[in-house]
Amino acid sequence: MRICIDAGHYLGTPGKRCLKSIDPQETREWVLNGRVADRVQALLQAYDCETIRVDDVTGKEEVTLYERVRKANKAGVELYLSIHHNAGIRGGSGGGIVVYVCPGADRQSKTVQQAIYQHTVTKTGLKGNRANPTPEGNLYVLNASAMPAVLGEFGFMDSTTDTPIILTQAYADQLAQGIVEALVEVYGLKEVDTVTYEQWKGFMERYQQEQSQLPPSDWAAEGLVQAKARGITDASRPQSGATRQEVALMINAAIK
Ligand SMILES: [Zn+2]
Repeated sequence: MRICIDAGHYLGTPGKRCLKSIDPQETREWVLNGRVADRVQALLQAYDCETIRVDDVTGKEEVTLYERVRKANKAGVELYLSIHHNAGIRGGSGGGIVVYVCPGADRQSKTVQQAIYQHTVTKTGLKGNRANPTPEGNLYVLNASAMPAVLGEFGFMDSTTDTPIILTQAYADQLAQGIVEALVEVYGLKEVDTVTYEQWKGFMERYQQEQSQLPPSDWAAEGLVQAKARGITDASRPQSGATRQEVALMINAAIK
């Protein structure tokens, strides 16, 4: 499973920021989008799901929508997931999460849309007051991508009720968890086995054991016999690594 994650915009996108009267820092939308995208990627590392980013992860470079979709189409990913934050309330209250698919979207897009909406609202509690929080939208990345695609607007940057919440790291973490839960559910993602340190030591011991059984290489065979005759080495385990103390003893024997 491979998916593409698109953190909407970049740091320099005009107008895409939180409303100053609510957030004096005027946090840029890309900052909010980017940290959720980072978190989703990090969480998905525990699953059999590869992710690619189509935005500039530093937020410094503008990547056009055309470029983003082109990259996703070329990579042949199975889902295009675009992460945004909303605006339009102009300092009023209300808002909430809205997840879009394109008009006439395929069934898989709609399934992912519903799952992401349900899981993110449950996880974050940011249930809004939109008439239809899972609408169709004529959005370029949804229309132009060759695979199922959804675009989430995860709270309003100009809402007295949403904005203080969406600015918090806790919200970003919960949101990312909700998105990942939805993907795990829809795509049946499995957790990948991670190797413990003890297991790794076991593998290393087995590898070293195998190496110690190997005969000398042709190019080394004759020199090894001579070195043994001079008392520099016992010539055993010729393919094993030598520790610093073993090397020191060999040099010492050679000098003598
Ligand atoms: Zn946006």
